[in-house]
Amino acid sequence: VTDWQGKHVTVAGLGVSGVPAAKVLHGLGAKVTVVNDGDDARAREQAAELEALGVTVRLGDGATLPEGTELIVTAPGWKPDKPLFAAADEAGVPVWGDVELAWRLRKPGAAPWLAVTGTNGKTTTVQMLASILKAAGLRTAAVGNIGVSLLDAVLGGEEYDVLAVELSSYQLHWAPSLRAHSAAVLNLAPDHLDWHGSMEAYAADKGRIYEGNQVACVYNVADGATEDLVRAADVEEGCRAVGFTLGTPGPSQLGVVEGILVDRAFVENRQRNAQELAEVSDVRPPAPHNIANALAAAALARAYGVPAGAVRDGLRAFTPDAHRIAHVADVDGVAYIDDSKATNTHATEASLAAYESIVWIAGGLAKGATFDELVAGAAKRLRGAVLIGRDRALIREALARHAPEVPVVDLDRTDTGAMLEAVREARRLARPGDTVLLAPACASMDMFTNYNQRGDAFAQAVRELGA
Ligand code: ADP
Repeated sequence: VTDWQGKHVTVAGLGVSGVPAAKVLHGLGAKVTVVNDGDDARAREQAAELEALGVTVRLGDGATLPEGTELIVTAPGWKPDKPLFAAADEAGVPVWGDVELAWRLRKPGAAPWLAVTGTNGKTTTVQMLASILKAAGLRTAAVGNIGVSLLDAVLGGEEYDVLAVELSSYQLHWAPSLRAHSAAVLNLAPDHLDWHGSMEAYAADKGRIYEGNQVACVYNVADGATEDLVRAADVEEGCRAVGFTLGTPGPSQLGVVEGILVDRAFVENRQRNAQELAEVSDVRPPAPHNIANALAAAALARAYGVPAGAVRDGLRAFTPDAHRIAHVADVDGVAYIDDSKATNTHATEASLAAYESIVWIAGGLAKGATFDELVAGAAKRLRGAVLIGRDRALIREALARHAPEVPVVDLDRTDTGAMLEAVREARRLARPGDTVLLAPACASMDMFTNYNQRGDAFAQAVRELGA
């Protein structure tokens, strides 16, 4: 689309993606109607702001396709089985997400995208990647599903050489024409299945990130499903499959040899068959899953032509975000770790694997997950468990099945104050040398606004107990 003048565009959903999308489209001359399911105070406020500009807003009716719609731009979270999309399908109206819109609105010759998806580690990897690209002197930003919107990055005044782009499976679902320079799928484990409908559909949406890649499709050697997605993708001629592994790398792979991150895919000096990039100790935190993230970030940077020294400098300069295996305090010889960002079983598995004797605080919204495998795998390392949140019975039952010896405290309350009680119970169960680990394996929205607030509540509780 180049001529937006008078085009009837329906924006599905207000909020963080809908409001900016509506403004941009209106600014281009499109005739914009926003439809929104909800009709609460926040929605009314946003609606008033848009209406003042001349945008039509329909609150409390996200199901009906407005007359004359030629294109829908949807918030990524809208489920594909919504009636609005069935109506669009029937009428032959295309549906784009916010990422697709940003992709289509890029200026000619604009910065290429290095894209990252996966069930876990996306934010960390994209931030490491941006740090590496900056260390190479490139103008870049970490954008996408990570705070800075792609629309802002693409249309704002700032000039970029290359973008480090985090993409969720929802965003990929709605981004049919996106073509990255290079892309990585970090791992694939069941998550958001209630949205996608099945594991196959979830994987297929993640796999879209490889479509049309120009230089490299980066996959996880330890997670065969990611390599399958590379094989299924239709890429540009000459585009390579590049693996990352925590073991010794094969040809066309990055990996670890005697504590050194090593690149065998992009070797500058043809006399050698491997390039040393950085030391494992340059990666923080040095947990195995995080070294995998660093290798994926390095692979994308190397695909873009970044020299080895910048990979090392960028990894050293990187500081992890809050609530991702963050050490809060030591109290009476017990370490308190906040991994509130572990909102699914796959992340929690990585987190539980990083400690020996754990009092585990878990629970919240399960999003359709099952916990048997997670609990069975971690049973030997659990000193105890404290369960909070709406779906905690699912975890309690898995503990009863696979770890019947482990003492469990089941807190039947979902108010925000429950975290203080949870930490108090955890402290009671813990022995010196243990780790009290908040790794909920669940979403937080039953008790908190988001995982940040949950992690803050945990840290606050630890401080109160320690004082
Ligand atoms: P995302 O953006 O994909 O949610 P984050 O980097 O924010 O990823 O990390 C989310 C959670 O997953 C954290 O709890 C973190 O400890 C864990 N995690 C990070 N990287 C990985 C990985 N490669 N494999 C498994 N878990 C991971």
